[in-house]
Amino acid sequence: MRRSPAERAAIARAKARLDRLEWYPRPVRTERVRILCVPWLFRLPWFGRFDGYTMWDWIFLRRPLHAGSSEDLLCHELCHVWQMQHHPVRMPLSFVRHGYEGNRYELEARRATRASTVRENEKPGEVPPSMA
Ligand SMILES: [Zn+2]
Repeated sequence: MRRSPAERAAIARAKARLDRLEWYPRPVRTERVRILCVPWLFRLPWFGRFDGYTMWDWIFLRRPLHAGSSEDLLCHELCHVWQMQHHPVRMPLSFVRHGYEGNRYELEARRATRASTVRENEKPGEVPPSMA
């Protein structure tokens, strides 16, 4: 399955936001990242509370990009990809052991979205149309 141009562009925009943060030794690698819209997944009990869910290089979304899934959500999920590339065992395990509330990786992903949004707002001309 090949990535569509829209999918590639959305991933590149989210990556550009994360690259500016420099929180990990290496920038997030996105060559293998896929965005998959799978509404049925989010009807399952564990997934019901999420709008996006990341497993290694797969980002699952409840709603299609630009039809219910925001740039911020994608940035948040790509931050989880980034975390997993640096902590492939510790990061997913932390959610099993400690849950979501107060989880340091979850908080960090929320911070990543907020931090990069503020920076983009400082340069309004560079904000992608979907964020305006
Ligand atoms: Zn999250």
